[in-house]
Amino acid sequence: MSEAKLATVAVHAGEDPRVAGAVVTPVFQSAMFETGSDVAYHDIQYIRLNNTPSHRAVAEKVAALEGAEAALVAGSGMAAISASLLAFLSAGDHLLVQRCLYGGTHGLVQEELTALGVEHTSFDGGAPGSWQALLRPRTRVIYVEAMTNPLLEVADLRAVAAFARAHGLVAIVDATFATPVNLRPLAIGFDLSVHSCTKYMNGHSDIVAGSVAGSALLVDRVRKRLNHLGGSLDPHGCFLLQRGLKTLPLRMAQHNASALALAERLAQNPAIARLHYPGLPSHPDHARARELFRGFGGMLSFELHGGVAAAERFMARVKIPLVAPSLGGVESLVTRPATTSHAGLPREERERIGVSDALVRVSVGIEDPADLIADFEQALAG
Ligand SMILES: *Cc1c(COP(=O)(O)O)cnc(C)c1O
Repeated sequence: MSEAKLATVAVHAGEDPRVAGAVVTPVFQSAMFETGSDVAYHDIQYIRLNNTPSHRAVAEKVAALEGAEAALVAGSGMAAISASLLAFLSAGDHLLVQRCLYGGTHGLVQEELTALGVEHTSFDGGAPGSWQALLRPRTRVIYVEAMTNPLLEVADLRAVAAFARAHGLVAIVDATFATPVNLRPLAIGFDLSVHSCTKYMNGHSDIVAGSVAGSALLVDRVRKRLNHLGGSLDPHGCFLLQRGLKTLPLRMAQHNASALALAERLAQNPAIARLHYPGLPSHPDHARARELFRGFGGMLSFELHGGVAAAERFMARVKIPLVAPSLGGVESLVTRPATTSHAGLPREERERIGVSDALVRVSVGIEDPADLIADFEQALAG
């Protein structure tokens, strides 16, 4: 799908029929909806069942953006991820997960799924030859992320989809860091694409939400699980997500361009010891990223020569970005993963996976890139 097409889809998909002629899909702030006398349970419209007009409208927009037959929205990224995994795994089953998962997903797999009798093995996303040996008779699902956090490593996503197809596994990708603008997971063979819509999909740092897209058959299985678990998105959240999605292609074009421009400048800065951005030829997965993604996204991370003290000084001096966790909004954010997303891991484990205490992660917003570059350079100087 061309850029122009996706931008058009983002604005117009899921907006018909226009209620009372309203140009903008309204907030349907009603817990339940009238039924006839003989309606089936799953046809009842109720907010927890994620099927009110507010849900349907935004799910239709997500499906159109993903090029999917169907989609659903959920009350958080974790609601979408937990319902997706639980839809295909039960006691005695086995799951393959990429190393270095998002912390919440890691916890879900490690604690909740294990408690339910679901076993897992982690795999190196860059070494497809090592996966076969990890299969078990009851391996059901293979799960990866479009890019890892915070080193932005890119798994061999095409190989993951092909491996799933060859062994009858459900292939799920968390495409939060890429968005449908930069990556088309279903087109490369994934069964389900899940997002934390809290991040780029909504893009304005004002809601927590999730989505799942894929075939109608699989999305229905996830929806059933989600409805039992109760992770619904409220109507106002649906409305805000619907609004945010209209500018997703525009915002991503700016995130992609600004992060690349900033990364290219930082690569020349003598204060920087190590820089991670998949759009730079120096990134170990650059070739794969170029082949898979239409843009390299808005996330980058770096270490300074002065270690933790220099990182702290930089974060105190930089003026435009806020020091805050999370990512994917219009405003730039900086954080030290050792104190936020990866604080739960012991230091040795963090060092082993390459997340040093001095690592700074940046979510590059849509401010003027020249302003951002100047601000980073002044904060790094001296
Ligand atoms: C934030 C995030 C999640 C969890 O999403 P919530 O909306 O916070 O529940 C999952 N995966 C990735 C990659 C994330 O960045």
